[in-house]
Amino acid sequence: MRGFSTNAIHAGQDPDPGTGAVIPPLHLSSTFAQDGVGGLRQGGFEYARSANPTRTALQEALAALEGGRHGLAFGSGMGAADVLLRSALRPGDHLVLPHDAYGGTFRLVDKVLTHWGVEYSTVDLSDVVALRSAMRPTTRLVWSETPTNPLLGIADIAAVAEEAHSAGARLVVDNTFASPYLQTPLALGADVVLHSTTKYIGGHSDVVGGALVTDDDALAEQLAFLQNAAGQVPGPFDNWLTLRGLKTLAVRMERHSDNAERIVELLVGHPAVSHVLYPGLPEHPGHEIAAKQMRRFGGMVSFRLAGGREAALRVCAATELFTLAESLGGVESLIEHPGAMTHMSVAGSALEVPDDLVRLSVGIEDVSDLVDDLRAALEVA
Ligand SMILES: *Cc1c(COP(=O)(O)O)cnc(C)c1O
Repeated sequence: MRGFSTNAIHAGQDPDPGTGAVIPPLHLSSTFAQDGVGGLRQGGFEYARSANPTRTALQEALAALEGGRHGLAFGSGMGAADVLLRSALRPGDHLVLPHDAYGGTFRLVDKVLTHWGVEYSTVDLSDVVALRSAMRPTTRLVWSETPTNPLLGIADIAAVAEEAHSAGARLVVDNTFASPYLQTPLALGADVVLHSTTKYIGGHSDVVGGALVTDDDALAEQLAFLQNAAGQVPGPFDNWLTLRGLKTLAVRMERHSDNAERIVELLVGHPAVSHVLYPGLPEHPGHEIAAKQMRRFGGMVSFRLAGGREAALRVCAATELFTLAESLGGVESLIEHPGAMTHMSVAGSALEVPDDLVRLSVGIEDVSDLVDDLRAALEVA
C-alpha cells in the first residue's frame, strides 16, 4: 500500500490521458457527448450533477486518504451531513450525538431532522457507559467527533464503534479536526467518515466543501443516490481547489502540530490562563486514547481565562497575527470566542460552552511570531 502523501499527490490524479496534463483539468462542462442513444463514452460521464471528472478525481483522492473504498464530495460539510443523515435515518429512528457536537450538526438535527420524525439524545462520548445507556432499540446512528469542537474532548473510536455495532447502529466520525493524516477512523471500526473539507483538507481558507468516505457498499450506494437526487454537489472549481489543497496535507499537519505544541507551552502555567485544552497534554482527560489513535495532536488549541468572559473577549481583540474569525484549519492562524461566535446557536442547550473559553486554530506561520503575538495579547487579559 502506498504512503499517505503519495496518495495525496497521485490517487485519482493520473496524468490526463487526452493531453498529458499532470494536474487534473478543471472540467466545467455540464454535459458530455454520447456515442449513441444510451451509449456513454469511455469515461462514463453524462451530466455533471451525476458525475464530473474533476469531482471524481477528488473523490478518489479522499477515499484513498481515509483508506476507504468510496468517497463522495459535497458543497459543504453540512451538505455531507445532511445527505448522510437522510440516507441513514428514517422517521422514528434515534440518533446519538456528542454533547459538544459541532453547532451546525446539532442545529441540523435539532431544527430540521426532528421535523421529519428523527429522535436524538446527546451524550458524553468519552464515557462508553453513558453511551451504552443512551442506546435505544431504534438507535441507527452514533455520531462522533474526536477531537471535539471546541473543547478538544476525545472519544475512543474503537470502543464507541463496538458499542454502536453491538446495538445494531452505525458509527460516523466527523474527522474534520484531526484530518486523515492524523487519524483514520475506518481502520478503527467506524462505518463512515465525514469532513468539512473547508478546514484542514482544503487548508487555505479559500473553498467550502464536505466529504464522506465509507467502505459500506450499500450505504455508499444510498449516499450517491441522494447526492444526485438532491443535487448536493460541489462546483468543479471548488473540487479543483480542494484537490490542490490536499496534496500538502501531511506537511501542513506536521507544521500545525509543531506550532500548536509551542503555543501550548506558552499557555501552560501562564498566570492569565486557568485551563489549557489540548489532547497532547499528558493531563488532558483523553490524552492516552488520543496518543493511541492519532499520529500527532493537531493544530487546534482551546484555553480558558482566569479573568472570565471579559478577559477572553479582550484577548480575542488584542492579537494581530491571530485573526479574529470563525473557521479553522487554514495556513493562517485564527482566534475566536466560541460562546459568542461559532457556538452561539447552542447557548442555553446541553452543548453550551464556557464563556471564558478562547479557541485557536494555530497556523503554519513562523512560530516565534505566533508566540510573541499571543504573549502580548495575554498581557491585557
Ligand atoms: C466546519 C465544520 C463542519 C461544517 O462544515 P461546513 O463546511 O462549514 O459546512 C462540520 N464539522 C466540524 C467539526 C466543523 O468544524
